[in-house]
Amino acid sequence: MEDTIQTTYTIIDGKKISTDIKTEIALKVAARKKQGKKIPHLAIILIGDDGASQTYVDNKVKACKSVGFHYTMLRFADTISEERLMKHIDHVNNDDDVDGFIVQLPLPPHISVERITENIRSDKDVDGFTNHNFGSIISKHPLLMPATPFGVMELLRRYNIPTEGKHAVVIGASRIVGAPLSMMLTEQGHATVTICHKYTRDLSSYTRMADILLVAVGKPGLVTADMVKEGAVVIDIGTTRVEGPEYQKGWAIKGDVDFKNVAPKTSYITPVPGGVGPMTIASLLLNTLRATELRNP
Ligand code: NAD
Repeated sequence: MEDTIQTTYTIIDGKKISTDIKTEIALKVAARKKQGKKIPHLAIILIGDDGASQTYVDNKVKACKSVGFHYTMLRFADTISEERLMKHIDHVNNDDDVDGFIVQLPLPPHISVERITENIRSDKDVDGFTNHNFGSIISKHPLLMPATPFGVMELLRRYNIPTEGKHAVVIGASRIVGAPLSMMLTEQGHATVTICHKYTRDLSSYTRMADILLVAVGKPGLVTADMVKEGAVVIDIGTTRVEGPEYQKGWAIKGDVDFKNVAPKTSYITPVPGGVGPMTIASLLLNTLRATELRNP
């Protein structure tokens, strides 16, 4: 008998799920308003005039408006000193009206990302970047989840993709994506997790064992069809801007997975764009709502 090769797969629609989440949040905000409760308020600090950062921030502001959150934008020139920025952070930390608070990365080279991040109050840290929130993943009562991994877990949950007892292989071990995602898959997903990174030897020997393969590297085409087990779930977190005359706009956003050739081998796969990307903003909104509920039940 011939081997059967799976040819049907589900494309995970992050855009739809993030729209569903925004609708749910908007209903909760409307209910809070009706009950005279505090409306969530997100403050965003943007430094410099990097085009990509501006676009990310514009999208976050648009998302706040769409669910009825209040927001405050604080913009500073990229010449601002670390000390001065710290003073503004203190101010937002102590502003009782602000529930959630993010500093858009990257920062200018003279400012320490770690020092800035650590100065954000953890109960307002809706990006989930502080050491406290990172560590709280393994506590019984996590506070605010790192936004992108939270979005990935939410996608798996909403698509009823089981993780318990599954072998999840995460490629990428960064502080904001790969590492917290691995912890969440272990602690909340009860998966058996292997973490791979740039020093991993013979990457494909691990990826081929994955029931769920999650990739957060930033190298388009890193994951090819021969690296993926038949029927695996593939979550592509990578986003790289690639330029070329073949793209309508002169550029396109690419994931880390060779989607065209990998997809037919999978059971579920996220596209790029339209997979994990929209979920990061949805998680930011969920975290802001949670921060508000914790401070003003
Ligand atoms: P990073 O550069 O901090 O970390 C990359 C990780 O990949 C590191 O752990 C590194 O060891 C590993 N790596 C590098 N080369 C590798 C290789 N050849 N084989 C295996 N591992 C390798 O990046 P990051 O901030 O974690 O982001 C990763 C990707 O995810 C980027 O493309 C980024 O744009 C994207 N991202 C997307 C979202 C979203 O909302 N969709 C959010 C955050 C990051």
